[in-house]
Amino acid sequence: MINKNELKLLEDGLDTLATGFADLPEFTPGFDTNAIAAVITEVAERMQNNYPYFHPQYAGQMLKPPHPVARIAYAMSLWVNPNNHALDGGRASSAMEKECIVELGAMFDWQDPLGHLTGGGTMANLEALWVAGRLHPDKRIIGSEQAHYTHSRISEVLRIPYSAVPVRVDGRMDVDAVERQLQQGDVGTVVVTMGSTGLGAVDPLAEILALRSKYDFRIHADAAYGGYFRLAGKLSNETRQAFVDMNAVDSIVIDPHKHGLQPYGCGCVMFKDAAVGKFYKHDSPYTYFSSGDLHLGEITLECSRPGASAVALWATQRLLPLHEGGEFAANLDSSLSAARDLHAKLVASDHFVPLMAPQLDIVVYAVKAPTTTQSSERASKLFENAFKHGLHLALMELPMSLAGHWLPDIDRDAETITCLRSVLMKPEHEQWTDRIIELLEDCVA
Ligand SMILES: *Cc1c(COP(=O)(O)O)cnc(C)c1O
Repeated sequence: MINKNELKLLEDGLDTLATGFADLPEFTPGFDTNAIAAVITEVAERMQNNYPYFHPQYAGQMLKPPHPVARIAYAMSLWVNPNNHALDGGRASSAMEKECIVELGAMFDWQDPLGHLTGGGTMANLEALWVAGRLHPDKRIIGSEQAHYTHSRISEVLRIPYSAVPVRVDGRMDVDAVERQLQQGDVGTVVVTMGSTGLGAVDPLAEILALRSKYDFRIHADAAYGGYFRLAGKLSNETRQAFVDMNAVDSIVIDPHKHGLQPYGCGCVMFKDAAVGKFYKHDSPYTYFSSGDLHLGEITLECSRPGASAVALWATQRLLPLHEGGEFAANLDSSLSAARDLHAKLVASDHFVPLMAPQLDIVVYAVKAPTTTQSSERASKLFENAFKHGLHLALMELPMSLAGHWLPDIDRDAETITCLRSVLMKPEHEQWTDRIIELLEDCVA
C-alpha cells in the first residue's frame, strides 16, 4: 500500500523548502511526540475502516488514488499552508494555480481562459451556472436526465428553472428533445455532460453546437469526470469529436480530483470569455491588493482556498504534462482498454449482460435472470458476495426505459433495475480484468 520512498522525497523537499527561510532567526515549533503518536495510531486504526480505493480490486465507484507527486507536493506545502484567496496569502501557489489554468485551458485549445480551481466539481458548476444565469436572466437551464444531480440542485440554489431532457439508449442526450426545448424560446443554457457520472456517456456536442445556428443559447460543458479524455487516443470517432468540439463551448468544468490524479478538494471552472469576470466584482476591505494583477480572490466565489491544491496540481502537470500521446494520456487509454476488455468478457459470460459499450472507462452490467426483480436481487447479492471476496463493485439503479433496450429477453416486472457498475479508473485495471471477471464468475455462482 505504501512505498516509503515517498516519505524520503517529502523529507528532502522540506529541507529544500526550509533553505528559502534560513535567514530568519531560528524558530522550530515543538510538540509532544508521544501524545501525537498515540492519536496517530488511533487514527490509522480508524482509517482501516475503508474500502481499498488504491487497489485494482476496487472496481466500484469513481475513485482514483492521487499520484505520489501530488501527495508529496500537497503535504510539503502544508508547512507553509498558503491560502489562494489573495496574493498575500499564497504568493507562489497563486502563480502556480494560474499556470495550471493556462495548461488546462490549452487542453481544449483555449488561450488564457478566465478560470480557477475550486473545492470540487459542485462549486465549479455552481459558478458556471451562476454566470449563465447572470447572462440569461429569466431563462431556463436544461441538461440530460443523466447529467449530475448537482445541476438541478444548484439551479434551485440559484433560483433558475431547470429541466431534464431524455437520453438515448446509449446514455447520450437526445438532441431532438433538446431542440424541442429550444423551440419554446425560454432556454438560456444547455449543460452538456462530457462523460456522465453514472454511465460515462458523452453528450453529442457537435449536434448541439449545430443548433446554435437556429437558436441563441449558452453551452456549459460539465466535464468534471470526463474532461481529461480530451487527451486520449483510443476513443471512438464520435466521442473524440465531442471532446475536440469543447473548444466552442462557453464554460468548462473539469475535476482534477477525478481523473487528474489529485487529492480531493480540486475542481476547476474555466470561461472562454474573460469578460464574465465582471460578475465577480466585490470591494471587500479585507482583501488587500499587493500587486496590480487580478488576484484569484477577485474571480472566485469561494474565499479561502487551499494553495496546497494548486501546488499538488502544478507538480503533477510538471511531471505528467497534459499532452496527447504523453504518459498521462497513455494512462487514460489504459483505462479505456480496461473498460472495453471487461465489457467484452461480460458479453462472453453466461451470467452477465453488459449494457451499452463503454464510451469512457465505466462498465454497467446486469446479472442474467428471467425477470427484472430477480436480476436486481442477484446484483445486490453479488455486490455483497464480491465484497467478501475482496472485489469491490458499485450498484446503480436504472430505469427500464433505458436498460430494457440492452435486456430484450427479460420479463419486465419492475420499472427500474439494479445493475452493477465498475469504474475502471486506474491504469493498472488494464492488467486486472482477467482477475476481475474470474472473481465475478465465482461470486455469482
Ligand atoms: C463528480 C461530478 C460532479 C460533482 O463534482 P464534485 O467534485 O463531486 O463536487 C459534477 N458533474 C459530473 C459530471 C461529475 O462526474
